[in-house]
Amino acid sequence: TKDKGRDGYHFFLHDLNTHLNGRMTMETDLRRGLQREEFEVFYQPQYEVASRRIIGMEALVRWRHPERGMVSPGEFIPIAEDTGLITPLSEQVLQHVCRQTRLWHEMGLPRVSVAVNLSANQIEQPEFVERFMATLLAHRVPVSAIGIEITESMLMRDLEGTIGKLKQLSKLGIEISIDDFGTGYSSLSYLNRLPIDTIKIDKSFVHDIRPSNNGTSIVAGIAAMTRGLNLNLIAEGVETEAQFEYLERIGCHACQGYYLSHPLDASTATRVLGAQAL
Ligand code: C2E
Ligand code: CA
Ligand code: CA
Ligand code: CA
Repeated sequence: TKDKGRDGYHFFLHDLNTHLNGRMTMETDLRRGLQREEFEVFYQPQYEVASRRIIGMEALVRWRHPERGMVSPGEFIPIAEDTGLITPLSEQVLQHVCRQTRLWHEMGLPRVSVAVNLSANQIEQPEFVERFMATLLAHRVPVSAIGIEITESMLMRDLEGTIGKLKQLSKLGIEISIDDFGTGYSSLSYLNRLPIDTIKIDKSFVHDIRPSNNGTSIVAGIAAMTRGLNLNLIAEGVETEAQFEYLERIGCHACQGYYLSHPLDASTATRVLGAQAL
């Protein structure tokens, strides 16, 4: 009936309002969080399979929210991207990473490269490459110490523009990884056109590993392909010994995941690196 329809409409409006208010609160909250520097960086070690040693770290942002406690990026990165706040947020993340890296170098800890996640909005900023490099320079961090992770979906938005910037960064010595490989619009043709050093195979493929399928799996196929293209392969989301051993058998270069280490706060990461120095 008519009344029922009206109620439905009101329900809809009510939901929409709650949704919009939620978004607005989050945006205001994000701005305040940026001003008060509530964002922190955690570091997840990447282990070379052959040596079982840490060769890199992935920088993963966390929000130490005054009321909500630790908030994970899945909750705020999408809103930061929609509102353009991803650019100042990424700048804070890179500053944290540079400061930390500089500190590790000064402490004489083993040199590992730290990879930061880029977003499409960020790389599309006109002065992106200049600002990125200026931050490294300001902290006296060598280019060999910092890497970037991009996703296939970032390439979809502006392939030519993105390729141009990645080439500039690569020429300057920044290592480039393709993140979540195989989940986006994977076109093998772009692999040849991009200055990529490493492929990070998505955790969904790692979780699909059945160790009994001796060497036949998507992961094994990607491993063979990266060898052919002379690229490094990192597996992410490695959660079990069986997955790790399988990845070792198929010649995967490095692994990252809960089986080896969760993302660590800066002081724990420092301790773990220090222990490796012994
Ligand atoms: P990602 O780049 O694919 O990062 C890997 C995610 O997998 C991280 O989630 C990490 O904590 C989680 N992970 C690590 N090992 C395992 C495992 O063994 N099993 C499972 N199931 N998960 C594992 P996190 O930290 O919540 O980050 C989520 C996403 O947020 C990231 O996915 C990345 O896309 C984005 N992100 C994180 N930090 C930043 C940042 O500083 N800038 C930008 N633009 N995006 C970021
Ligand atoms: Ca990543
Ligand atoms: Ca990933
Ligand atoms: Ca992901």
